Amino acid sequence: MVENGLIDAAGHNNDAAGIEAETRNLGETVGWLLERVQRKPGMALLVTADHETGGFDSLTGAFQTKGHTTRPVALLSTRPLPVSLNDQTDLHRFLKELLFAPK
Ligand SMILES: [Zn+2]
Repeated sequence: MVENGLIDAAGHNNDAAGIEAETRNLGETVGWLLERVQRKPGMALLVTADHETGGFDSLTGAFQTKGHTTRPVALLSTRPLPVSLNDQTDLHRFLKELLFAPK
């Protein structure tokens, strides 16, 4: 598990340039991980967030808050996601299925 908490910190500071820079850093890390996961059968890579911060509006270029929001966040996976995965609160069941599935 890898976390980039600096994106959250930049969101709390309403720092759009910081969010962009940290998102690029995360993208580089995900690319590095993806190369390795693709070489290891049975491994999965999931990329998500526990929440959105700042409520940045890309149309107006303005932030809505300095706190966390309830906006949906992306969930990307190298494995098919189960149909029963409706929102972020279902993620723990998907991870449990991945971790404890019979080999
Ligand atoms: Zn936070």
